[in-house]
Amino acid sequence: MRKPLLMTPGPTQVHESVRQAMAEDITNPDLDQDFFEYYKETCNKLKKILKTENDVLILNGEGILGLEAACASLIEPGDRILCIDNGIFGKGFKDFAEIYGAEVIYYKGDYRKAIDVERLKEFLEKDNKFKLATLVHCETPSGITNPVDKICPLLNKYGILSVVDSVSAIGGEPIEVDRWNMDVVLGGSQKCISASPGLTFLSISEKAWKVIKNREVPIASFYCNLGLWENWYKEKWFPYTQPISNIYGLNTAIERILEENNYIERHRKIGKAVRRSIKKAGLELYPLDGFSNTVTTMLIPEGVTFSEINNHMLEKHNIMIAGAFDYLKDKVVRIGHMGENCYEEKLYITLKGLDETIKSFGIEIEGSLHKHFVNEVY
Ligand SMILES: *Cc1c(COP(=O)(O)O)cnc(C)c1O
Repeated sequence: MRKPLLMTPGPTQVHESVRQAMAEDITNPDLDQDFFEYYKETCNKLKKILKTENDVLILNGEGILGLEAACASLIEPGDRILCIDNGIFGKGFKDFAEIYGAEVIYYKGDYRKAIDVERLKEFLEKDNKFKLATLVHCETPSGITNPVDKICPLLNKYGILSVVDSVSAIGGEPIEVDRWNMDVVLGGSQKCISASPGLTFLSISEKAWKVIKNREVPIASFYCNLGLWENWYKEKWFPYTQPISNIYGLNTAIERILEENNYIERHRKIGKAVRRSIKKAGLELYPLDGFSNTVTTMLIPEGVTFSEINNHMLEKHNIMIAGAFDYLKDKVVRIGHMGENCYEEKLYITLKGLDETIKSFGIEIEGSLHKHFVNEVY
């Protein structure tokens, strides 16, 4: 298999130390008492990144499992759910909520902008009888970061639980779960955390636990049932055998992030420099505001297609970037500058490759992407 420089917005590159950790000898995670401590320590490290005292769980499945587990565990048939939508993941939350019987009402935002908190406030003044609201921290397909720091406290004021998909933001964008009143926040191993795909994690507030425990209708799932995990540590019991090698990797990846202690600033600096380089070159970003610091989405210039750019990037430069799906299919190119991808030298190489690629199709731009980047980043 060809192994290109992976510059997609997840999965991201996995550092050698994380890969080595995954290769370590295993123990029996259901029987070895040390493993329960190791799992707990991994959760505690995640709590530091999330800035929370809430319980954190790691589940054996990709980010989508976290999203579905939150819906399965919190929603009862007939519950009114607000789905805050300004992108593909925001919109898609509805499908998961409906599987578990929710009556879903959309709050629709502009797809090229971050959620407008003032407009949401006006909406909630008229209608706020919702058990919970789903929202997306960073809309990965469009490269937009939503102001969850303002949205979650607003929802909290109305007694609406917040369920936040922060899969592509945790480890790259600021997040303060406790201070921002975030009830359920979920992440994945393969985005800014830069571990191998396969794990999701959730922080669960007291209020959310209460809702899970006081349901009338039992949770219609086993794998997605967060309630099963309530006493895992006290009872030293997991609902199913834990993917121990993945958890070794996750623990090591989080340790790397915590040791660096400068990851938010690094993402801010690189994200800004990538955006400015694209604009200086006369190319157009997809978002009009709310620019993500973990992924940049650029409109494909006229005269070239996504597959032409993608194939050329792979064949000539051995660099993998991404397009997008749904309504953005063939409209945008995405560069993932999250986690291990988010270093100057990697973005320099990527933008140099992209610069050559775009020009090779006869498209004229102002100057060079990588030269702009050097000027912007230093
Ligand atoms: C990556 C991601 C997920 C997980 O979904 P996959 O496409 O299966 O990787 C969920 N939410 C967001 C916002 C993501 O970026």
